Amino acid sequence: MRDSLVSAGEADYPGNLFVVAAPSGAGKSSLVKALLELDTRVAPTVSHTTRAPRGQEKHGREYFFISDAEFDDMVANDAFLEWANVHGNRYGTAKRAVADRIAQGGDVVLEIDFQGAMQVRRVFSNAVLIFILPPSLEELRARLERRGEDRPDVIDLRMRNASVEMAQAEKFDFVIINEVFERALFDLKSIVQAQRLRYAAQRRARRDVFAALGIA
Ligand code: 5GP
Repeated sequence: MRDSLVSAGEADYPGNLFVVAAPSGAGKSSLVKALLELDTRVAPTVSHTTRAPRGQEKHGREYFFISDAEFDDMVANDAFLEWANVHGNRYGTAKRAVADRIAQGGDVVLEIDFQGAMQVRRVFSNAVLIFILPPSLEELRARLERRGEDRPDVIDLRMRNASVEMAQAEKFDFVIINEVFERALFDLKSIVQAQRLRYAAQRRARRDVFAALGIA
């Protein structure tokens, strides 16, 4: 890994970096999962977290589940591209997982909270920030209730957090309103495809063609 790759404002890397954020219940995970199934050029990264595994979650698959002390060490060693405290636990994306892949021309999608998204933008100025919104507060609550994962007081807390999080959507490049899943997935795929076709992204990815055509 070139150290300069993760220096502030880094823009010259061949892959694309997509960052997807949303309040919980907006459907972020399902949309990203569907994108990954359809588009093998995009890879996810596995984040580190201090929260305990839930249900069938496996270390190294959903997350690297680490202790507070291990998380502290990673912070001290500057190993995170970004990290944040979300709902009382810490979550972070390792620098290496992102930098290595985009340096090799692969695309990466990060499914992280809005605080992390802002930190990523500071490091990778070309990162594409996508915010997923629910169609209404009523629908968001209904989805959280249908999911059946949280107690009523936790749902109330998630709803309060959602309003704070959604107020950050204006700082993102794109907004998808997840009303009908298929439509939202189409929107997400369109953003990914449009980003790949941007002049700078094409020139980074297809330097050979530009050179052969004598325009780079
Ligand atoms: P959960 O515990 O439900 O899996 O995730 C809780 C929240 O943490 C979600 O909004 C998720 O996107 C966010 N999150 C997961 N991994 C990361 C990460 O590496 N960094 C940041 N900033 N947020 C993350």
